[in-house]
Amino acid sequence: MNYKIVRLNTAAKKEIEHSVLIIYTGGTLGMAYDASGALVPFNFGQILEKVPNLTNMNISITVISFPEPIDSSNINLQHWVDMAYIIYENYDTYDGFVVLHGTDTMAYSASMLSFMLQGLNKPVIFTGAQLPISEMRSDARENLMTSLEIAISKSDGKPIVPEVCIFFNHMLLRGNRSKKVQSVHFDAFESENYPPLAESGIIIDYNYPAIRTFEPGKQLKYMNQLNNQVVVLKLFPGITKKVIESFIKIKGLKGIVLETYGSGNSPSEPWFLKLMERAVATGLIIFNVSQCNGGRVIQGRYQTSRDLKRIGVLSGGDITTEAAITKLMFLLANETLESEIKRKLITPMAGEMSDLSN
Ligand code: ASP
Repeated sequence: MNYKIVRLNTAAKKEIEHSVLIIYTGGTLGMAYDASGALVPFNFGQILEKVPNLTNMNISITVISFPEPIDSSNINLQHWVDMAYIIYENYDTYDGFVVLHGTDTMAYSASMLSFMLQGLNKPVIFTGAQLPISEMRSDARENLMTSLEIAISKSDGKPIVPEVCIFFNHMLLRGNRSKKVQSVHFDAFESENYPPLAESGIIIDYNYPAIRTFEPGKQLKYMNQLNNQVVVLKLFPGITKKVIESFIKIKGLKGIVLETYGSGNSPSEPWFLKLMERAVATGLIIFNVSQCNGGRVIQGRYQTSRDLKRIGVLSGGDITTEAAITKLMFLLANETLESEIKRKLITPMAGEMSDLSN
């Protein structure tokens, strides 16, 4: 990939104490209006002019920009591999990493990176904006500046937040617990099933017990294998046999994230259950995730989920759909045994789900 690299001259008079690598992928933060009035991403060099305060921070900042910044609706597997590679390659050089990313698929990317960056011991903060940085009322400046501050924050010489997060509108959330819930207001992200890791006001108030602990000596691994032979199947009243059949007949399909109702419930009609049973028997992995933002899947609580459990559908507990589908893509490519994929799916890997085993 042909990255563009920009190094920032900070105006710090003292010796620079901290360093951050910004990965600029695109998104509204760095967009401008084209001739037709549509928002399109523009070059990072121009963004820096819009945040003069950046040069007053005592941080050495390097920016690596995607050759063509993208709207995050265009994110694909290769982009995830590139992001993970950039972090892996530069891991020892920087205190932390800030990924500037569109909000639309930010929760997917943050989830995927949390699985790919195994052994991570430094902050990787995703952020973006609802309004381009060139707009007067833009949320971009505050999101960017605070993300940088979080990326360099240390306590006793150790990073305070050694995990993949999303910082947006005063809230620091665990990346693989987040969801985009707003397309207009500034409070775009929520983490219904896990408390915020920090809130920023006049100070950044860290919620220490919720943050993953720094583990000395941990080595970052670069895991770049992903498998997208997967699908999200969202149930709705009236869904037909033909639809379900055509999903499970997709050639090469390896896994389904089944978005069920409430605490993991599905229709109990025999045709539906028979199709699910056949799918599991032929080796398809079915991962049950709730359509509700809060709460969790409890297979067996209602009669309408008891059969899913019996058939071998796996419970996603309190995982988000974004984390479920990315975890599935990751495990399908990195585990050879079906039994291991299944075991790891239902076990927390990077704080993406609560441990409900006891
Ligand atoms: N469509 C934009 C994107 O995700 C929206 C945003 O950045 O907020 O890239």
